[in-house]
Amino acid sequence: MEPVCFLDAVMTGLAPDGGLLLPEKLPNIGNKLEAWRDLSYQELAFEVMRLFTTDMPEADLKHLIEKSYSTFRDEAVTPVVPVGDLHILELWHGPTLAFKDVALQFLGNLFEYILEKRGGELNILGATSGDTGSAAIYGVHGKENIKIFIMHPEGRTSPIQEKQMTSVLDENVFNLAVDGTFDDCQHLMKSIFADVAFKHEHSLGSVNSVNWARVLAQTVYYFYSFFRVQERTGANRVQFSVPTGNFGDIMAGYLAAQMGLPIKKLILATNENNILSRFFATGEYSMGSVVPTLSPSMDIQVASNFERYLYFRTGKDTEKLSELMAGFSENGALTMAGSDDLFAAGEGNTPETLATIKKYADEFGYILDPHTAVGIAVAERFKTLETPTICLATAHPAKFTDAIEQAIGATAHHPELDKLNNAETRCDSIANDETAIRDYLVSKRRKTNTFDPSS
Ligand SMILES: *Cc1c(COP(=O)(O)O)cnc(C)c1O
Repeated sequence: MEPVCFLDAVMTGLAPDGGLLLPEKLPNIGNKLEAWRDLSYQELAFEVMRLFTTDMPEADLKHLIEKSYSTFRDEAVTPVVPVGDLHILELWHGPTLAFKDVALQFLGNLFEYILEKRGGELNILGATSGDTGSAAIYGVHGKENIKIFIMHPEGRTSPIQEKQMTSVLDENVFNLAVDGTFDDCQHLMKSIFADVAFKHEHSLGSVNSVNWARVLAQTVYYFYSFFRVQERTGANRVQFSVPTGNFGDIMAGYLAAQMGLPIKKLILATNENNILSRFFATGEYSMGSVVPTLSPSMDIQVASNFERYLYFRTGKDTEKLSELMAGFSENGALTMAGSDDLFAAGEGNTPETLATIKKYADEFGYILDPHTAVGIAVAERFKTLETPTICLATAHPAKFTDAIEQAIGATAHHPELDKLNNAETRCDSIANDETAIRDYLVSKRRKTNTFDPSS
C-alpha cells in the first residue's frame, strides 16, 4: 500500500487493508544517546518523536508534549525508583494513575490539534473493562469537536474504576453501562465499527492500543529510564521487565531497541493468560480462553499489537505476515520458526503475584500493584548482577486495592481516588443491543452539534 504520513496514521488507526501501521524505516539513534542523557522527559519526548512526526511543525509538537505531560503529578513524569536490586519505572503519575495516561494524554491532544487544523469532528467509541476507558476519557474530556462514548459492563467493573470514569462530568463524555459482559461490549463495538458507512457518517474513531501514536509515545520512557539508571549505576546496557497484555507497551521497548537503545533483554511477563509467554517459549501463538486474574488489564488472549512484532520476525515480509495473520484468524493459532534472543519470557501466576506484593511490602515498604507484581515476579528469575533491570510499574496499587488486601491484609490509598467516594457521577444504563447503542450515539452527537455554529 501507499505510505501515509504521521497525522493521517493517527487519524486512521488501522491501515485500509486492516493491517497495523509502522514507520517505513526506523532511525538509528545510537550516536544521539550522549546528547540526550541530560534532557528532561519533555525534551527527550520531543527529540524522539520529532524523528517520526515529519508532517508536523516542531513548535506544535513541542507544545503538545508540554501540554500532555503537564497533567502528571511528578516533575520527572515517569520517575525511576531504586527498590532492592531493581529499578522501578513508575508510569502511573498521570491523571488516572495508570500507564495508559502516558500515551492517551498525548493522543487526546493530538486528536484535538488535528481537528483544529483540518476541521471536522471525532466521536470516539470504546469498550472497557477498566483502565483504558478512564485513561481515554481523561485524554479527551472537555475538548472541542470530540465526544467520547465508553461502554462498560454494568456492575462488573471495579467500583473505583467505574467511579473514575463516571465522575468525569464534561458534556462531551458519555458513560454507558451495558447490561452484559465486557465481551458483549467489545462485540457491540466491533460490530458497529464494521459498518463502514455508519462509521463515516458519524465520524467514529477509536483510541485502542493499535494507534501508532500510542506506541510512539511509549518509546520515550525506555530512553528516559535508561539514562536515569545509567546515571545511578554507570551501566551501558540495561534490561526491562514489562507486564504484558496487548503487547503495546513492550512493542515500544522493542522499537527503542531497534533504534539503538542498548537493551540486553526485554523480559515479557504475563499472568495466567499466557499466550505471549508461551509463544516465546515454543514459537506457537495459539489462543486459549481468558481466565480472570488479579491483573485484569492483562487478561487478554489475542494481543492486538503482536502483528507489529511479527512484521520484524518475518524479516519485514508483508506477504508472509498477511498469510500468518489470515491463518491466525482462521485457526486461532500460528507458528514461527527460530527464536529471538532479545526476549526472555515467563508467567507470574496468582500465588506468585500475591507473594511478590507481600515480599516487596515486607522487605522494602514498597507496595506494588498486581500488574507490576507480575512483571517483578518474572524479573526476579532473569535479573543479573552486571546488567541493571528496570521494571515497568503500570498502575498505582490503590487502583487494585482488593489484590493488595489479599496480599498484605491492608488497603492501599491515593488521595485522588479517596476523593472519588463522594464524587458526583453521570452514567446511562443501556440494553445489550446494537440498535440501542447506535440510536444513543446518533442522538447525543446531533444534540450538542445543533449548538455548534460551524456545522
Ligand atoms: C494496559 C495495561 C497493561 C498491559 O499493557 P499492554 O500494552 O496491553 O501490554 C499492564 N498493566 C496495566 C495496569 C495496564 O493498564
